[in-house]
Amino acid sequence: MSSQRRPSADARESDYRILHEADLRDYLAGVPEVAARLGGSPASWSISEVGDGNLNLVFIVKGAGGGVAVKQALPYVRLVGESWPLPLSRSHYEYLALTHQARLAPGLVPVVLHHNEGLALVVMELLEPHIIMRKGLVGGTTYPRFDEDVTTFLARTLFFSSDLAVTAAEKKDGIAAFAGNHALCKITEDLIFTDPYRVAEQNRWTEPWLDATAAAFRGDLDLHVAISRLKLKFLNAPEALIHGDLHTGSIMVTAGETKVIDPEFAFYGPMGFDIGAVIANLLMAYLASDGHERSPGERRAFEAWVLETVESVWTEFSRKFLELWRSEAKGDAYPVTLFEGEAGAARLETERQAYMAGLFEDTVGFAAAKIVRRILGLAHNIDFELIEDPKRRAVCEARSLRLARAMMVEAVSFGSIGAVTKAARDVRDWRPDFA
Ligand code: ADP
Ligand code: MG
Repeated sequence: MSSQRRPSADARESDYRILHEADLRDYLAGVPEVAARLGGSPASWSISEVGDGNLNLVFIVKGAGGGVAVKQALPYVRLVGESWPLPLSRSHYEYLALTHQARLAPGLVPVVLHHNEGLALVVMELLEPHIIMRKGLVGGTTYPRFDEDVTTFLARTLFFSSDLAVTAAEKKDGIAAFAGNHALCKITEDLIFTDPYRVAEQNRWTEPWLDATAAAFRGDLDLHVAISRLKLKFLNAPEALIHGDLHTGSIMVTAGETKVIDPEFAFYGPMGFDIGAVIANLLMAYLASDGHERSPGERRAFEAWVLETVESVWTEFSRKFLELWRSEAKGDAYPVTLFEGEAGAARLETERQAYMAGLFEDTVGFAAAKIVRRILGLAHNIDFELIEDPKRRAVCEARSLRLARAMMVEAVSFGSIGAVTKAARDVRDWRPDFA
């Protein structure tokens, strides 16, 4: 992974064009590996644009032999339009991250079949019949393999890109290779770590019920300190190559398979940001759940599964990460020669546990930040948005904000993942004033 692979602006400007259907068909016909996978004549391929994301175009292309997904970056934010430019280079970083993750966590990301940097295009394995996990969660579906797969993804991608696993030189090359992805990082810095806590044009929330809470968050200095510490950590802690946007809309699932997609926000950042993203989105699925029930208690088994999954995401991640640290620590951190003999081994093990306690604290804080931005910021999620009655939605959101504030400001009182799930359970019984 060398910084020389950074995309050149000249190449992009000359080669780039937005591919529409006919163009895309001709283009793919000229890529032998892709044409072979699709099979039949190019004229027989079906092409449909399915992008439901905020940023890019995604086409599903199917032929007699098989299918592919084609993702093309636009020079602006799709959700907003040309008034919000965004560099095409994000496609290059998505490609780099996908291929890196495929090596470290085989089978857990879509296989990349082709990449064209000039066109900001990635052609990948079509995930079918996988659906976006968030949609399944809104419908009350449980995914029994999810915790196993996502913790393998987290433990392996984070550990093997950290100083525990790689030399200082490799680590710095890795940081350099992703350093140019700063425009995507800036989106996170603004939309997650800043805007929800101040007046910002793009903020929105379920009015009028959350008006008072939104105002309180804008005036809450304890919260402003907590979110600013988290922002500093995000800016300032290249611990590992993180996915950077690991919510349940970036995970596609079947009952038996889990695939992580869309790593265009990848960069070297704090590990807790990825782990926290998974936990936050499960907590929101849990707290939104009673907004989706048609008869009281209908989704109880689902809700119990969600909270068990929150717990196992942390405990299994932590177990797998520690196991890797004990057996595969070839990096420059914690030199073995400093921890020789029985006393050294014992002391190093104590240190590993302390490290995990610190990572847990980060995880809880980042999870809280990810919850707040979905309720008071620009980008909301269907967990809440699909609750039709706005007042009922606001109750679920107010509970989530109450939990998130506690997780951020009283982080130390959440000494274990069990304390987080207990607080989530308790807040379900809390009714805001307006309810
Ligand atoms: P964005 O970066 O714009 O958010 P995503 O990478 O999240 O784009 O993709 C948008 C949508 O396209 C996903 O929600 C999913 O429905 C679909 N999609 C993306 N990649 C694949 C794939 N490999 N196979 C099938 N569908 C996909
Ligand atoms: Mg995306």
